[in-house]
Amino acid sequence: MIEKARALIDMGMCDRCIGRFFSERGHGISNIDRGRALRTYIAMLDGSVPDYRDSCKLCGDAFENMEGKAELLTDASKEIEFSTFLIGSRFDSETLEKEKEIAEKLGLNGESIKVEFNRSLGKILEKKTEKAFSRETPDIEFLYDVRYDDVKIQINSVYIYGRYRKLVRGIPQTRWPCRYCHGKGCEHCNFTGKMYPESVEELVAHEFMEELGGKEHAFHGMGREDIDARMLGNGRPFVLEIKEPKRRSFDIKDMEKRVNRFASGKVEVSGLRLSSKEEIREIKASRAEKTYVVTVVFGSEVEEEKLKNALKMLETDIEQRTPKRVAHRRADKVRKRRALSVKLLQSDGRQASIEVRAEAGLYIKELMHGDEGRTNPSLSAALGVKCAVESLDVMGIDSKEE
Ligand SMILES: [Zn+2]
Ligand SMILES: [Zn+2]
Repeated sequence: MIEKARALIDMGMCDRCIGRFFSERGHGISNIDRGRALRTYIAMLDGSVPDYRDSCKLCGDAFENMEGKAELLTDASKEIEFSTFLIGSRFDSETLEKEKEIAEKLGLNGESIKVEFNRSLGKILEKKTEKAFSRETPDIEFLYDVRYDDVKIQINSVYIYGRYRKLVRGIPQTRWPCRYCHGKGCEHCNFTGKMYPESVEELVAHEFMEELGGKEHAFHGMGREDIDARMLGNGRPFVLEIKEPKRRSFDIKDMEKRVNRFASGKVEVSGLRLSSKEEIREIKASRAEKTYVVTVVFGSEVEEEKLKNALKMLETDIEQRTPKRVAHRRADKVRKRRALSVKLLQSDGRQASIEVRAEAGLYIKELMHGDEGRTNPSLSAALGVKCAVESLDVMGIDSKEE
C-alpha cells in the first residue's frame, strides 16, 4: 500500500484523490483523511513529501467551492416541488480515463471520482434543503456538468393507479393521433391533431395535469377495450403517468372527485392511489380474465335451443388468427385462448345478448362472427348463420392485486 501511495504522491495528487484509490480500506474514514494519513506516514518515512492539495493533477478544482455548486442546484430547482433527489455528474473524459489507467496500473480498486463528487454534493444539498438523497425513487435527478458548472434537471414522473369505467361508446382509451397529419393538425382532424376529440386518457389526466403542472401524460391500461365498447363492472386497472410535474403533493381523494366531476357521464375512476413505474410493468403483464356482454344480430331466425347448443360448443380453446381489423398493427399469427363460459342472457330469435367469460386476449367480436373463418370455432360457424355484432361491453376484469 505504501509503495502505491508513494506512486500517487509522485504523480501529483491531492489527499482526496490518493485516499479515494484506497476507499475500501478503513470503514467510515473520509477519502481526504485516508490520503492525509498516507501522506503523513510517507513523510515520516521519507523525511518529506510534496503537497499537491491545491493543484491536483487528477481532480483539478472539481471539489472546490462545493457550497457554491450546491447553490447552483438549489437555484435551478427552486420552481420545482420535490422531496427526494439524486445527483449525477459529468467529468471530462481525460480525467475519467486517467483515473482508470492509474487504477489498472497500480491494481487499485477504489471509488470513482464521480461517485465521490455526487455523494459530497448530495450531502451538502441535503443540509441546505432538508430534502433526502434517494437512489431508488428520486423525485428529481440533477446532472452536474463539472466542466462548465452547468446544471440540468430531470423531473421524474408521478404515477397514479386506479380503475376506470367507460360509460359511453366511441371513446378510445388513449389519445389517438390523426392518421393524416400525425398530430400536427390538418383539415381531416379539424386541426386537433387527433382522430377522436376525447379519450379516457385525456379525461382522466386533465385535472392531474392542472394540479401538478405536468408537461405531458401517458396512460397504461391493463389491456384495452374497443373504441365502441363500454367498460363497465368493476372497471379496468390503469396507471396514469404525469410527466415532468412541477408539483407533486396532492390530496388523492380530492383528485378522484375532481376527475369524476370533469369526466362526468363519460368516464368514472375509483380507488386512486399513488403508484410506480414497476406497477406499469405488472399491469402490462397481467393476464386477467375478463367478462363481456355482446349483442349479436342474426342473418336469419335462430331457435333458442339451437343457439344454446351452439354457445356450449364455444366453451373451449378458441384458435384465432390475428383479426382482419387489427392485422395492420399486429403480427399475423394464430393464437389459442380459452372461452371459459358462454351464456345466453336473452334472445328473441333475431338477436341475442350473450355473456362471455374468457382468458385475456380473446377477441370477442371475432368469436361471434368468425372473421371469415379466421376464428375457430365461432358462433356464426356453429349456427351456420351470419352473426353481426351490434354492441360489446366489458363487464369485469379480474385482477389479482385486489
Ligand atoms: Zn485530487
Ligand atoms: Zn390531422
